[in-house]
Amino acid sequence: MKPVTRNALILAAVITVVIAILLSNNLSNNLTNNSQQPIEETTEVGNTAIEFVPTIGLIDEERINNADKEPGNWLAYGRTYEEQRFSPLDQINTESVSKLGLAWFVDMRSNRALEATPIIVDNMMFVSSAWSRVYAFNAVTGEEIWSFDPKVPGAWARKACCDVVNRGVAVYKGRVYVASLDGRLISLDAASGKQLWEVNTLIDRERDYTITGAPRVANGKVFIGNGGAEYGVRGYVTAYDTETGAQVWRFYTVPGDPSLPFEHPEMEMAAKTWKGGEWWKIGGGGTVWNSIVYDPDFNNVYIGVGNGSPWTRVIRSPGGGDNLFLSSIVALDADTGRMKWYYQTTPGDNWDYTAVQDMVLADMEVDGVERKVLMQAPKNGFFYVIDRSNGELLRAHKYVAANWATHVDMETGRPVEDPALDYITETKWILPGPLGGHNWQAMSYDKEKGLMYIPAMESPLAYAMNDEWKNTGTYKRVVGGWNTGIELGRIVQVMADAGDPPKARGILKAFDPLTGKEAWAVEQLHYWNGGLLATKGGLLFQGNSLGEFNAFNADDGELLWTFNAYTSFLAPPVSYQIDGVQYVAILAGTGGGDLFSGEVPNLASVKYGNFGKLLVFKLNGNVELPAPTVIDRSIPEQPDLQASAEDINRGERLYHETCAVCHGLAVKAGGVIPDLRLMSGAKHEIFNKIVLDGVLAVNGMASFADLIDEGDANRIHAYVVSRANEDKAAAQ
Ligand code: CA
Repeated sequence: MKPVTRNALILAAVITVVIAILLSNNLSNNLTNNSQQPIEETTEVGNTAIEFVPTIGLIDEERINNADKEPGNWLAYGRTYEEQRFSPLDQINTESVSKLGLAWFVDMRSNRALEATPIIVDNMMFVSSAWSRVYAFNAVTGEEIWSFDPKVPGAWARKACCDVVNRGVAVYKGRVYVASLDGRLISLDAASGKQLWEVNTLIDRERDYTITGAPRVANGKVFIGNGGAEYGVRGYVTAYDTETGAQVWRFYTVPGDPSLPFEHPEMEMAAKTWKGGEWWKIGGGGTVWNSIVYDPDFNNVYIGVGNGSPWTRVIRSPGGGDNLFLSSIVALDADTGRMKWYYQTTPGDNWDYTAVQDMVLADMEVDGVERKVLMQAPKNGFFYVIDRSNGELLRAHKYVAANWATHVDMETGRPVEDPALDYITETKWILPGPLGGHNWQAMSYDKEKGLMYIPAMESPLAYAMNDEWKNTGTYKRVVGGWNTGIELGRIVQVMADAGDPPKARGILKAFDPLTGKEAWAVEQLHYWNGGLLATKGGLLFQGNSLGEFNAFNADDGELLWTFNAYTSFLAPPVSYQIDGVQYVAILAGTGGGDLFSGEVPNLASVKYGNFGKLLVFKLNGNVELPAPTVIDRSIPEQPDLQASAEDINRGERLYHETCAVCHGLAVKAGGVIPDLRLMSGAKHEIFNKIVLDGVLAVNGMASFADLIDEGDANRIHAYVVSRANEDKAAAQ
């Protein structure tokens, strides 16, 4: 193979793994600030004076249930309880979209990932930002009405796999609910932003829990989960009283210490599916970090449960078993938290195949029978259609390339794994990788067309068992670090040895959930793109990693309109209408950790940095977005560090076990978290003060002195410098 081709393949693989690792749920942050971006601090934003008098209507389950009667609003995370994310507005349509322009924008004062869905009630917009900050804007003008900063400790970012993100707030009966990165659930007055109450949702604040998901609200209760499986936590979901914050119920997703009583009857059932091992010491995983959906038809709450901790069952539960309720959709009674049914997408999960992806509810005819269904495209590559009344599996078509299993046996409801792809004894390229065939980025469902629009991706990973386990048969939990069970320290070598990887790409597609057929698909060079919004105007909106906000014809995928935002997207768009004018709103700002290789020059985050913005469009909008300057990413002269090859090798391993999840594989970052090859001389001078003393903790780069001693910090530094020198030489 020619070197160029080989490098391209490895680059693709590296990108895949960086994303995969980042995406699963967790680690550190900001070493240096290599762009002109301001270093963001967790300082108080403060409540500003209310000049604009809001007219927040009463939002309750009745109104959310009848959201189609007020299509001008976007009242809840997925617009309605069904979370179809389809806007019935059509002023902006396939004919008029060419006149779409920027109405206003707000600099969100953030260089971190922005993932939230804005909520629009009457003329107010509520939106969360990095560090779980909340803003209320006049939805017509963009004027800030109030802001709220929960003052998350900067060092808490180390517990977050995928940056200090927040996916949104809930609005209910005059209040706004937000969950903070450090595990608090907070109730705010919607008119003023004043805090009404706050509760600690964490069972153990010493464990590496984080919350990035949006709360959901119904029937006087607010529901919230958490993340952190890779670090070693035990997943659960809690319901709180919306008025008082009192806990109503809690449902654990995996069994705890078997020497202690079961917290609720479902744990006795689940414990029988965990065999051998000491999973409770690592935590077991199963975090509910994204999807929680309320179903008024059955008064159910559906929770999407995440991956195991560690990923590999042979370590977690060496006697086998399905390991309930990992990678499952679980239906709970909304009032009591008791389980009604569950469906496990990936029994005994070995791949980080979470089932936390957004769930969409719909009524549809299936094989001649009217059904109330739930649909999900979890990471594992299969698209599920499930009867909400009883959990019956109706369909399970592949929606993307997946080689780990051939199909789902519709009799048993279980995937049929391909034994040739078992990686316990031999490294395998597997699709999907831990990033999934689809991640948290929102889907959108057009019930009239019967089509689900999916921001799908093909992103393989070379899975290999962890060297320590292979050599000794033992595995020790790393407190404060990643616990996957696969080999991360030598991941660059593992991928190089694994042969040619499957192609990595993004695929925006229109998918028929019943037939499994694609109506159309648009291939995307990069796969880490934004969520979707389909509209009655026949349009499908998506922001992508190149910084383009696009409108496609929802019937055939033809690109009808594009806007250069100079910032990569992840968040989903929403649409609303006030005084006869339809708007489309979206947050720009990528991340989720440091996802892309710095060698991919056309990524907006790499080219321009990651200036977070809220962008709002309308027909004939004519506001100009200032073009940022292109960032100089040439590698500076490196300090002369004396280190042996052995030291650099150890530095490489430690770097990939501890730093790569944020700073990028092989020290190639993607424009959000600093690229360490670009460190200034001053940063090199204080490298150990940053890594060991935590002098940049306020930005999220907390001390790693618990995992790394001075000698190892020097070795990591030497590896970083050696990589910088390699790439500097290659560029000349
Ligand atoms: Ca994960």
